[in-house]
Amino acid sequence: MGKTPLEFIARESLLGAHNYMPLDVVLSRGEGVWVWDVNGVRYLDCLSAYSAVNQGHCHPKIMQAMAEQARKLTIASRAFYSDQLALFYEDVAELFGARQVLPMNSGTEAVETAIKCVRKWGYETRAIPEDKAEIIVCADNFHGRTITIVGFSTDPGKRRGFGPFAPGFRIVPFGDFAAFAAAVTPNTVAFLVEPIQGEAGVNIPPPGYFAKVRALCSEKNIALVLDEVQTGLGRTGKLLAQEHEGIKADVTILGKALSGGFYPVSAVLADNDVLSVLRPGEHGSTFGGNPLACATARAALRVLVEEGMIENAQIQGAYFKAALESIGAGCMKEVRGRGLMLAVELHPDAGGARAYCEELARRGVLAIDAHQHVIRLSPPLVIEREQADWAVERIAAVLRNPLSPLAGRGLG
Ligand SMILES: *Cc1c(COP(=O)(O)O)cnc(C)c1O
Repeated sequence: MGKTPLEFIARESLLGAHNYMPLDVVLSRGEGVWVWDVNGVRYLDCLSAYSAVNQGHCHPKIMQAMAEQARKLTIASRAFYSDQLALFYEDVAELFGARQVLPMNSGTEAVETAIKCVRKWGYETRAIPEDKAEIIVCADNFHGRTITIVGFSTDPGKRRGFGPFAPGFRIVPFGDFAAFAAAVTPNTVAFLVEPIQGEAGVNIPPPGYFAKVRALCSEKNIALVLDEVQTGLGRTGKLLAQEHEGIKADVTILGKALSGGFYPVSAVLADNDVLSVLRPGEHGSTFGGNPLACATARAALRVLVEEGMIENAQIQGAYFKAALESIGAGCMKEVRGRGLMLAVELHPDAGGARAYCEELARRGVLAIDAHQHVIRLSPPLVIEREQADWAVERIAAVLRNPLSPLAGRGLG
């Protein structure tokens, strides 16, 4: 076994596909907001596995629920009933006010599921001609990695070389209500959109955008499908980001933190009859809704609510954002975000966010770049004020000092 980080890195890149470009940090342990590398060096995690560990690393109560269920029954398949699935449905329906629930595993699968269901719903309830259903999506979207989904991505790096793609999607600019309204046709069955575009660099829509979208969708009987895989479950300081907009989606997609980072669990929540179009055999997943997933997810939701993580995200998020703004370094263009879904956008001439993230890692803060000039900051929702101060101190030192030691890497 290799001992130094560099040995692990070399061995990974020898046998694995190179579909990621990780920072040079080799992690082996996590607890709350902290993670440790193989040398025992501690870092404050400001990525939270893209918001999969909102509840903090290795939350003991989720761990306990998962271990208890793992001793009893892990998977039965949906060919049989289990004593856990109904409990999961009940908890989810009550917490989110959902009418029907469909469990899957990854966020991507839940998005695919929603796409299938809104299409079928369109054909069955709206008399749309066969194979003519249209779904409107937004430029700079991120909804996952399947062929269908990357087919309507506007990021060449995510779609180049993977065609041919599925038809039936129209792309409009995010946050532009007039463009959305103009794209609606009699065959539009759904609008699939993120409440805040995370991967695109934490893009927040203008005030009132979603209220107008909601009204038009209701008027035209278009299903409003909100992908809350990243924004949901407390990340923005509300249980769901749609609450900031004062709206309720017809279909809400959850994933990531639904298991507190222990296990891939996702779900499609419907407030209308979109999920009732499915009949036995028309959709499924071997692992979807298995007892281990259900027990883990229920514990993850319970601690999120009972331990006040959503309120904490709001309070610490506001504090963190103000502290970032007060750094006022010359390379900073804007600080934006909601709750603990935060981003610092750098000026284009700052040399790119990646080098700043590398320097942050050397100082003990793990964050990742998005869209070249954006540093995303989304720590676990259990972060305390002193920990936020600890992070901001280091972020400030890196942002205020772009010439050294970054100069050697083409900055400044
Ligand atoms: C991460 C993400 C997905 C995909 O989830 P996976 O679990 O990686 O498949 C979909 N939508 C949004 C908004 C995401 O952030």
